[in-house]
Amino acid sequence: MSYVDEVLARVEAKNPGEPEFIQAVKEFLDTVRPVIEANEESYKKMALLERLCEPERQIRFRVPWVDDNGQVQVNTGYRVQFNSAIGPYKGGLRFHPSVYFGIIKFLGFEQIFKNSLTGLPIGGGKGGSDFDPKGKSDREVMAFCQSFMTELYRHIGADTDVPAGDIGVGGREIGFLYGQYKRIKNIYEGVLTGKGLTYGGSLARTQATGYGLLYFTEELLKINNIDIAGKTAVVSGAGNVAIYAIQKAQQLGVKVLTCSDSTGWVYDPDGIDVEALREIKEVKRARLTEYKNYRPNAEYHEGRGVWNVKADLALPCATQNELNLEDAKALVANGVTAVCEGANMPSTLEATEYLKANGVIFGPAKAANAGGVATSALEMSQNSERLSWTFEEVDSKLKQIMINIVHNIDAAAKEYGKAGDYAAGANIAGFKKVADAMIAQGIV
Ligand code: NDP
Repeated sequence: MSYVDEVLARVEAKNPGEPEFIQAVKEFLDTVRPVIEANEESYKKMALLERLCEPERQIRFRVPWVDDNGQVQVNTGYRVQFNSAIGPYKGGLRFHPSVYFGIIKFLGFEQIFKNSLTGLPIGGGKGGSDFDPKGKSDREVMAFCQSFMTELYRHIGADTDVPAGDIGVGGREIGFLYGQYKRIKNIYEGVLTGKGLTYGGSLARTQATGYGLLYFTEELLKINNIDIAGKTAVVSGAGNVAIYAIQKAQQLGVKVLTCSDSTGWVYDPDGIDVEALREIKEVKRARLTEYKNYRPNAEYHEGRGVWNVKADLALPCATQNELNLEDAKALVANGVTAVCEGANMPSTLEATEYLKANGVIFGPAKAANAGGVATSALEMSQNSERLSWTFEEVDSKLKQIMINIVHNIDAAAKEYGKAGDYAAGANIAGFKKVADAMIAQGIV
């Protein structure tokens, strides 16, 4: 049995009941085989892969809070500090009922290599809770966030671990979390990113993941001699990533036909109206059923369906495993040119294989959505120097980072005989830097 297969078997045995984590490790290890095989003996002796697949630290804690009826509620909080070889742990917090260790570990694992790809000094971590902010009052969300931070604060810090947002954690939640951290620690430091602009946030952070996804997609198409202008796209999701992906796509001359939320999806033949979408989701925190009130020509459908709409580009921006083999077949049958992932691990392993086997240009999440964390790192830099950069300055740095990522993953894929396999290129390029740093730092 090869070293990679040994480690895979060990990860499966050690993490039963965590299919998302096993999926992420499998996708990663399968594609970095050429690098491992070239160094098999030394990596195995120092158990490099075993260490890489074992979080440095996992924290799980009780989060009690009082709802508007005076009833005490109890949720579970998580933080996985996965790898600090190249910098302080960095990665978002997810508040969603589906959250458990398997989800947080898959996200934390992915984050290690994504952060490495940005070229910035940030390690990998992730956290969250099974708390659902949907339908809660602002006071309830604040009560939850304050209780969550009353435990989390002792594990994080500007040079230790710097969380940010993710599903269910936006500006409102970050504000409540930051306020409680400052109150407990009596330190005004950049311990969270995605902060509001009045208290240390960075311009362009809100837009960064979606904008970054489009800068990435534009460049990936360019190296394949395709112009993004004039293309059509299907997008899933209607949250932070999806909204700003749609906005930037339109600025680049792409017509976006769909968006979705957890109950249904919208098809708008005239192109999604971003301002209407922002009002529904960011201001009213309402369902997509409302979209028809703004655009009578649009269709609303219950359930899933965006991948059946014919388009040149597919940009999944909602959640993990939202694009399966059947969806991949529908996209290919409709002649899709490229799939670039805004969400984390939105495509199943079978879907990814099918897309790649059918000549679809595939931009993997850890490269394509790295713009969010890259801009978080830029927020950390601004906090450290106690300065704020202009929108244009941050946006142009973001764009350059995404362009560099495209060229780095392209070069890494070519170096290992996998030209055009950008998933392999991303994993290899992300892995090499982390592996070298881990080796240099000894057995820790
Ligand atoms: P949001 O909470 O802002 O939006 C998530 C969107 O996806 C919402 O429209 C939500 O629907 C939908 N959604 C969530 N869960 C499900 C589900 N189980 N089934 C169907 N739809 C679902 O999150 P973000 O936009 O921040 O995150 C989206 C994805 O992007 C995640 O995978 C996240 O990890 C990833 N990501 C986010 C980054 C960021 O900077 N925010 C950075 C890098 C990656 P509804 O409105 O009904 O809740």
